[in-house]
Amino acid sequence: MSRQIQGQAQSVTERAPSPPQVNAYEMFQAQVDLVGGRLGLPDDLVDLLKRPERVLEVSIPVRMDDGRIRVFQGYRVQHSSARGPCKGGIRYHPQVTVDEVKALAGWMTWKCAVVDIPFGGAKGGIICDPMCLSVGELERLTRRYTAMILPLIGPRHDIPAPDVNTGAREMNWLMDTASALRGEPMQAVVTGKDIALGGARGRREATGRGVAIITQEILERLGRKVQGTTVAVQGFGNVGSVAALLLHQAGARVVGVSDVSGAFYCEQGLDIPELVEYAQHSPHRLLAGYSAPGVQEIPKEELLTLDVDVLIPAALEGQITEQNAGRIRARIVVEGANGPTTPEADVILEERGVTVVPDILANAGGVVVSYFEWVQNLQCFYWDEEETNARLARVMRRAFQEVWDYARHREASLRIAALMLGIERVVQAIRLRGIFP
Ligand code: NAD
Repeated sequence: MSRQIQGQAQSVTERAPSPPQVNAYEMFQAQVDLVGGRLGLPDDLVDLLKRPERVLEVSIPVRMDDGRIRVFQGYRVQHSSARGPCKGGIRYHPQVTVDEVKALAGWMTWKCAVVDIPFGGAKGGIICDPMCLSVGELERLTRRYTAMILPLIGPRHDIPAPDVNTGAREMNWLMDTASALRGEPMQAVVTGKDIALGGARGRREATGRGVAIITQEILERLGRKVQGTTVAVQGFGNVGSVAALLLHQAGARVVGVSDVSGAFYCEQGLDIPELVEYAQHSPHRLLAGYSAPGVQEIPKEELLTLDVDVLIPAALEGQITEQNAGRIRARIVVEGANGPTTPEADVILEERGVTVVPDILANAGGVVVSYFEWVQNLQCFYWDEEETNARLARVMRRAFQEVWDYARHREASLRIAALMLGIERVVQAIRLRGIFP
């Protein structure tokens, strides 16, 4: 696609091909209104919580391989620094919008508060389709974006990390660019780097590992065993593939997985290690073309409505909607992705007695180990993977217990309880600090 665009003009600003169906920021604001009401917060405070502290929009010129200049639109949003430096990933996707980035930044604030790590929330995004860019173009895009958001980021201010379509490679480029421009080594400016550059051992797997831990916690709490539990996972990237693999290793039967290229089902359980291996060696790490005895390719939308015990949406936001929530057959939904369930769908799931473990708890493993990486970078003292994983499990289990207890005491769903707990902690910090001047 981008190759055609490049041919049309000397300089083209890339736009999303079609607007996303769900406005994530409206979803975010509706949640704050609801929870603010339940907590009895005054309107002015709710208004403050709904807005990001800072929004930076950048137009990023990139020299493409054919010599032309193409201008990409990018954002960095800081939602709150009340509890500490802002923290949040960078997403490369054709449908990134400023509203999406604002919502994701806000959810990062609540997430850091729910797992009680000393960060506020931020998020970044670039409107682009990385599958249509060469490695050189991606590197120049990442480096120029870094240069343009550099006034906002830094180890004590705002620390980016990977998100959809970004990983260690992009974080390495970001760290190197920031270090070159500031003239000093800046390992702690970003997390999710390669281990050789100061990345935390276990960071790459941390979000999926956290999702798997939380899935086991909820199963246990509902009196079920992981062995034999059937699972479907939407999205087979960083989060989905690791969660699927760890649950498979723990004895669950992962019967369905999907990514943007297709969905696969096997009643006896998919061979997840083989699928991980397949994706690792296929173009753009996609599942397209996978086949094995007993495995059926199914329409992508059917993945969400498979007859399973646990559904793990781990792709993008707005996947479980008013349209399909009534057909979801899983009794437990563990949100690996950010914002995969719309508020309307949430109501339907609750009415149908489906237990939803919300994103800000279920997928917090990534930011927890990002916190560990940042701590190690600042101290120049590195832990082994065992230590990271043990500490991660401790933080996730403690947070799960706190949200579970909160939900019981307040007769709230796990989502409302997690939001109440997170927002309460942020409000406490705002009140203790006071409003400057
Ligand atoms: P990723 O780019 O590694 O993977 C995304 C996956 O979703 C890919 O397999 C992609 O093909 C698939 N996908 C996209 N559209 C799809 C569709 N319509 N149907 C089925 N699959 C589809 O991204 P990731 O890092 O795994 O992030 C996934 C989600 O988890 C995002 O919502 C992200 O914000 C959230 N998250 C990520 C992290 C992290 O540490 N990476 C942390 C917390 C939350």
